Amino acid sequence: MLEVYSGSDGSAAILEPAQSENIVERCLAVWRSVGLSEKPSVEWFPRKVVPFSAVYSKLFDTAVASDPDAVVLAEQRRSAPLHNLRDHIPLSLLPVIDIGGRAKHFADVHFDLMDQASWIETARCILEFRGRREGLSPFVRASLDPQTRLLAQAFVSARQLTPIRCAETTGGICYPGFPSAEHTVPLAESLCRQHYMKRTFFDRLHECARCGSRRLSVREECNACRSPELRQASLIHHYRCATLRPEAEFRQGNLLICPKCSVQLRNYGKDYDKPGQTQICSDCNRTTSEPAVGFVCLDCSTHADGDTVKRADVHAYALTAEAVAALTKPVDSFAIKGLPQALVADLRQLQAMQATAGSNLAVAEVRYGARQSITQARGEPVFERLRALFLENLANFLAGRGTIYPGETADYLLLDDTGERVGTDIDRLLAQGQNSLSEDLSPRIRLATSFKRALP
Ligand SMILES: [Zn+2]
Ligand SMILES: [Zn+2]
Ligand SMILES: [Zn+2]
Repeated sequence: MLEVYSGSDGSAAILEPAQSENIVERCLAVWRSVGLSEKPSVEWFPRKVVPFSAVYSKLFDTAVASDPDAVVLAEQRRSAPLHNLRDHIPLSLLPVIDIGGRAKHFADVHFDLMDQASWIETARCILEFRGRREGLSPFVRASLDPQTRLLAQAFVSARQLTPIRCAETTGGICYPGFPSAEHTVPLAESLCRQHYMKRTFFDRLHECARCGSRRLSVREECNACRSPELRQASLIHHYRCATLRPEAEFRQGNLLICPKCSVQLRNYGKDYDKPGQTQICSDCNRTTSEPAVGFVCLDCSTHADGDTVKRADVHAYALTAEAVAALTKPVDSFAIKGLPQALVADLRQLQAMQATAGSNLAVAEVRYGARQSITQARGEPVFERLRALFLENLANFLAGRGTIYPGETADYLLLDDTGERVGTDIDRLLAQGQNSLSEDLSPRIRLATSFKRALP
């Protein structure tokens, strides 16, 4: 059977079985020669593409889904947006291999069946990601905390958060290799305040006050009525009466007659001169030599004056040496910052023993949304009593499947469970804790750390 193969330049090629067999063998040999000894195991995004699968399934192992090496980007729609690609492919510390040839810097490497150089680049990319991933602290590798994941992704992909302009999004920018700007920027800004990232200025954009869009049209406007319909005209300066008006006001047929003193202007340089240009508003007829600057939102048509429009500075972000040190420390400092001492001790012991092979542990953090309101209305002792009851309910419900560590501002659970079950159990967990309490504590659980892949 012939195989249709689509090249990275959009061309299509037809491979005979013998040809494709030959390419597969050569590619695997090249991979071995640069140190990639086994077929890389991959996940497909958005899904495995059938026309390619015959060749690609001989190169990439799709069966082993537990510990993949890469995500293969097989988006076939030419119009699919790329700026939010990483909103859909989680920051899983894996490289994105583009086989369609259109993802450019949104992918980490491009693989082209017909281009041997791309085979080598792909193998190197997989190996480099793997090496840096293994350099991460196990706590960082397993952390589900969005800030930690952003740092870890930047480290593993060896990429800075470098913005590019992007008209497809109302924010006007995106960060290739990372989630869309509205997710990435608040995390990066917070990481800057914690000295884990440093930022450098990229550009100043302007923002619509009504809808927040930065897709604005900039224009010169009449100072009086804000119309953009301005036209250029030369000015005439009549020496005798010192009037200075647009030429059109002097023009009567072939003659120039002063509109103020009605004298005919005859000699350029002697009677009058032309000192420059002015702008005339077609709406209100006023003239101005310095028009105003105004903005109109392309998304909601709201108008803003140049001097009051909201400015939005855009930055690039890079990891600091402090972040790299924290990311690669055997037991990382910020994943456990603020955890109760008893929990930290147990975690260290678990890590040292590596005794949890095959089991799944997760650290969950519980915070109480109603803490402030209950403390204010009924006093702190009442809140603390409710909190103690809540934790007691949880302990009864968990019955040996987890340990509770009361903390200062939050409480922590070390859960012995599979990742999936913890996820679906959380609502039940909270409901059980809340059971028969006289007031709603509005508890929120955040899965701080999962050890699913951290402890070998
Ligand atoms: Zn708007
Ligand atoms: Zn006007
Ligand atoms: Zn005059």
